[in-house]
Amino acid sequence: MNEKKYVIAMDQGTTSSRCILFDRQGEIRGAAQKEFPQIYPQPGWVEHDPGDIWSTQMGVAMEAMQKAGAQSGEIAAIGITNQRETTLVWDAATGKPVCNAIVWQCRRTADRIDRLRRDGMVETIRQKTGLIPDAYFSASKLEWILDNVPGVRARAERGELRFGTVDSWLIWNLTGGRVHATDYTNASRTMLFDIHKLRWDQELLDYFRVPPSLLPKVLPSSGLFGTTETLGGSIPITAAAGDQQAALFGQCGFTPGDVKSTYGTGGFLLMNTGEKAVSSERGLLTTLAASAGGQIHYALEGSVFIAGAAIQWLRDELRLLDSAAQTEEICSGLEDAGGVYMVPAFVGLGAPYWEPYARGTVVGLTRGVTREHLIRAVTESLAYQTNDLLAAMEEESGLSLTSLKVDGGAAANSFLMQFQADLSGLRIQRPRCIETTALGAAYLAGLASGFWKDLEEIRRNWVCERTFVPSVSQELRTALLKGWRRAVRCAMAWARDT
Ligand code: ADP
Repeated sequence: MNEKKYVIAMDQGTTSSRCILFDRQGEIRGAAQKEFPQIYPQPGWVEHDPGDIWSTQMGVAMEAMQKAGAQSGEIAAIGITNQRETTLVWDAATGKPVCNAIVWQCRRTADRIDRLRRDGMVETIRQKTGLIPDAYFSASKLEWILDNVPGVRARAERGELRFGTVDSWLIWNLTGGRVHATDYTNASRTMLFDIHKLRWDQELLDYFRVPPSLLPKVLPSSGLFGTTETLGGSIPITAAAGDQQAALFGQCGFTPGDVKSTYGTGGFLLMNTGEKAVSSERGLLTTLAASAGGQIHYALEGSVFIAGAAIQWLRDELRLLDSAAQTEEICSGLEDAGGVYMVPAFVGLGAPYWEPYARGTVVGLTRGVTREHLIRAVTESLAYQTNDLLAAMEEESGLSLTSLKVDGGAAANSFLMQFQADLSGLRIQRPRCIETTALGAAYLAGLASGFWKDLEEIRRNWVCERTFVPSVSQELRTALLKGWRRAVRCAMAWARDT
């Protein structure tokens, strides 16, 4: 009776737009990906052309449908997941952006955050939004656009403009400008949204001087946002969620205590804390999780800025590797890292340290250290950083973990996963489908549209490809971690010793 065969996940990332068609078993039936230009107008500034975001996303959607041989009538729903925090403003009448999108990585408003600290706003923001104030989030980027793009503040005050994160921009375009909406997870990264009251916060809107007419309506991540006619027939858009929250959902992290760790360009550890918003004393963020069926769940999040990017650095800048995948064989061929530690604090350190002025550091060099040792030290740094997040998370949640689900490009590295198991003492579970971000968006959309019946049906799709079991002594683990802590202290001392 049901002719619907697929759910489309639109995965709009920082460096590329991806689209995947999933079938009822959660298997990939068609996929396409396209990179788009990164714009660096000044050192530390990062922008995207909103037209590139839209055109690449539509291009890959059509390509993925073609690869699957899918007709629009066979698509049950569309789910959107996206790079978070990236900020856009456009004209409500024409849909034309007033300037480029300011990307999450952009540091142009760092001094604004220093001023915010002097204004004594840190605690207010932490309590309301769950965030540690940083230029990373959307609020100061939006304020910057209002104050620096000629004429924009006046137009905003006349109600002519719309603000959105990338999900809102896609929804607006997919619906031909009929719907201006975002979801809880994306709203919770703007630094303007009260995650407890689930509404835009007037005090923060006043502080950043944001006219309310700019703001999208905020909806649950799983539910009807609108319908699109852009892919043939009429298809409902029934999910939107930020990439990390979508990945937690894609890993079936539906219940309190569920955790996933993503090893992509950056590293992200998220724990579902259920209906309780756990506030952190150890540098983790409190944020809304993506949930289905009207539930409101929170998550604790630890973010490290550089993870797989450190492997790219070995490959592209140091030219010690031909491919990222080579690290696995090189690392496995050594007993250890020869006493070398590498802290990849290229843009400062994120959680749990939040030291913006720390820098990359290599310690423990001796005459016998080889290229291979350095490669191993860099690869190990991904696991050490994640282990710091795990320790903070266990302490703050009061839960003691036994296993960890992993995903992201570098999770393919079995040496790294074994090392993570050894350091953390946890069983590391790598699923067969590591496209968990797209899968999460598909699940959220498919649950809302009735393509999947319930969470149980989805849980059955999660298949473990390999489990890594801890295999080192407690003494060795303690010694390794002690060395890492000393290395981090060196990277931090560099920041402070002027
Ligand atoms: P993102 O979605 O953040 O762009 P991905 O999840 O696609 O990132 O992961 C890509 C990152 O993973 C790159 O930084 C790359 O260096 C790293 N990576 C990919 N494969 C491996 C591997 N086998 N070993 C170590 N790192 C890897």
